[in-house]
Amino acid sequence: MFTFRKLTILFFILLLSLNLIHFIGCRMEWLNGHLCSHTYLYILALFSLYIGISIFMAFFISSNFHHSAICNGITTEKICALTFDDGPDLTHTETILSILKREQLSATFFVIGKDLHGKEALVREMDSAGHLIGNHSWNHSVWFDLYPGSRMKQELKDTAKAISDIIGRSPLLFRPPFGVINPILSKVLKKLNYHVIGWNIRSYDTLHKDPKKTVKRILTKVTPGSIIVLHDYVSTSPQILELLIAELKLKQYRVVPLTQLIHIEAYA
Ligand SMILES: [Zn+2]
Repeated sequence: MFTFRKLTILFFILLLSLNLIHFIGCRMEWLNGHLCSHTYLYILALFSLYIGISIFMAFFISSNFHHSAICNGITTEKICALTFDDGPDLTHTETILSILKREQLSATFFVIGKDLHGKEALVREMDSAGHLIGNHSWNHSVWFDLYPGSRMKQELKDTAKAISDIIGRSPLLFRPPFGVINPILSKVLKKLNYHVIGWNIRSYDTLHKDPKKTVKRILTKVTPGSIIVLHDYVSTSPQILELLIAELKLKQYRVVPLTQLIHIEAYA
């Protein structure tokens, strides 16, 4: 697997080689003057490539490039798990909970820390119904990945405390905002012992207005062990959920709790 660590090793090997070629080649006059005087340009290009690849790969959680993330269960059984991000939402989460209760299904909610205030009863209801609650940062800021490690750590700790104050247990599941992981966040996650949960089916429910299109997209991608990401703040999320559960049943898929799918603990 191609990881950030391997890329960094490769980068330093190439950097060292370039410097050696420059030093020896120019002294022994194996290289022409033009190449000798422009070595810094090759070093700059190499450094840009290293930074470019690192940034690009940060957006692909399933690549495990910066940090190992669980994006699906390993099974041949027709089972999958539902996850909801960016809640809780006072308007739609309640409806989602009632649909899940009626269907006797369990889901995982990756909640935003600052949004928990005033929604404690809703979170307690989630927990007592058997749903799992994971950490999705305090602010879910678009700048989260530019924060220093200390601020990221504080966001994760504050959210874990807010969850723990409500349900009495501290979460071990973390989903990075926008699914982006960089080396600084990876370090923080290792220190705090989080299991990083990704997905292998992105529903794009925040973009599509038609629930049928969203469900169709999910169904074309579902495989045994799939982790599906939805958002409980989206106005069409109850419709999507109803339709998705019905269609999964037709395809003989069972929705199971995330912990059953990937065999890990959800709380410390
Ligand atoms: Zn999110």
